[in-house]
Amino acid sequence: MKGIFPIDKFKTLATPFYYYDTALLRDTLRIISEQLAKHEGFIMHYAVKANANPKILGIIAQAGFGADCVSGGEIRAALNAGFPASKIVYAGVGKSDWEINLGLDNDIFCFNVESIPELEIINELAGEKGKKANVAFRINPDVGAHTHANITTGLAENKFGIALGDIENVIEEASKMENIVFKGLHFHIGSQILDMGDFEALCNRINDIQNFMDKRHVKIENINVGGGLGVSYDHPNRQPVPDFAAYFDTYANHLHLRQGQSVHFELGRAVVAQMGSLITKTLYVKQGTHKKFCIVDGGMTDLIRPALYHAFHKIENISSDEENETYDVVGPICESSDVFAKAIDLNKCYRGDLIALRSAGAYGEIMASGYNCRPLPKGYTSDEL
Ligand SMILES: *Cc1c(COP(=O)(O)O)cnc(C)c1O
Repeated sequence: MKGIFPIDKFKTLATPFYYYDTALLRDTLRIISEQLAKHEGFIMHYAVKANANPKILGIIAQAGFGADCVSGGEIRAALNAGFPASKIVYAGVGKSDWEINLGLDNDIFCFNVESIPELEIINELAGEKGKKANVAFRINPDVGAHTHANITTGLAENKFGIALGDIENVIEEASKMENIVFKGLHFHIGSQILDMGDFEALCNRINDIQNFMDKRHVKIENINVGGGLGVSYDHPNRQPVPDFAAYFDTYANHLHLRQGQSVHFELGRAVVAQMGSLITKTLYVKQGTHKKFCIVDGGMTDLIRPALYHAFHKIENISSDEENETYDVVGPICESSDVFAKAIDLNKCYRGDLIALRSAGAYGEIMASGYNCRPLPKGYTSDEL
């Protein structure tokens, strides 16, 4: 055992694979529950897209949370894992008819709707089934988050949501539709947000919208503020559980709720990132002209975040205690972007050493692909090892 890892068990498994520390996941879920309980009307839906491994979904469902889904496949995965349909919300800018029908057939809690054409189709499909669909409108609040450009979603130029100026019109249209029940407003400003000021800005914007709606006597039951809380990729050991107290307190202190309103959260990354690591094996250590490469058997097909967003993951040689050397850690895929890190220090690497990429529980396994005809990585939990 070096650090948090059961190395002897790892030696019996084919690499690369994901390792999930379920004790940390359960701690994280317990802390979220404790923090939520401090605030009346706060409700949590886990964002399934961060990690849909059935074992992980099962543990989160058991904790009593709902699910935030962005496709029909995720609705199925959530139902199979034991999330009750009455706690499933379904968002997405392009919902297919079969996906809407799946949501209607299961009587999910709410559709988060992003346009009038989509609303018309939901109304029509609900009518064919003699059902009524609960909807919230996803509003583009035009609030920027201080995060990577590819993962901000709340600016006016993003494809997501309904523009601020169109809200009144959309609610008016919805009120004319027989099979639509208007429930609330939905927001999501981006991901990996560590500055609570960004969430505060969202609260202020929501307060303005609510004041405007009050004047028009529009009743809003639910406010869904989305997810986006970030994690410490630099220091996974120092901060294994994100600061949920500060996060929920920000909303409690700045969002002005009306009588009986509930606030829905859709956290993904903050729930699952730190419990996961990608475990890969050193194949070769190659001396280049100016640097040394640690060539591992895991690549961008297993964990695409470094190639896709230049994301940083802490990397450790968990088989060695030897003096540090500097390496570029690269995968076997035939793409120059298949690099996990450049010029990082690792305990001296030899063929066969296990290398851990930390904080990989969110947007890791779920984004794996079969490019280069590679098999998909497996995910193992600490429970089963
Ligand atoms: C991706 C997404 C989330 C979760 O985002 P995290 O940054 O992982 O918390 C929540 N809501 C919606 C609508 C999303 O698209």
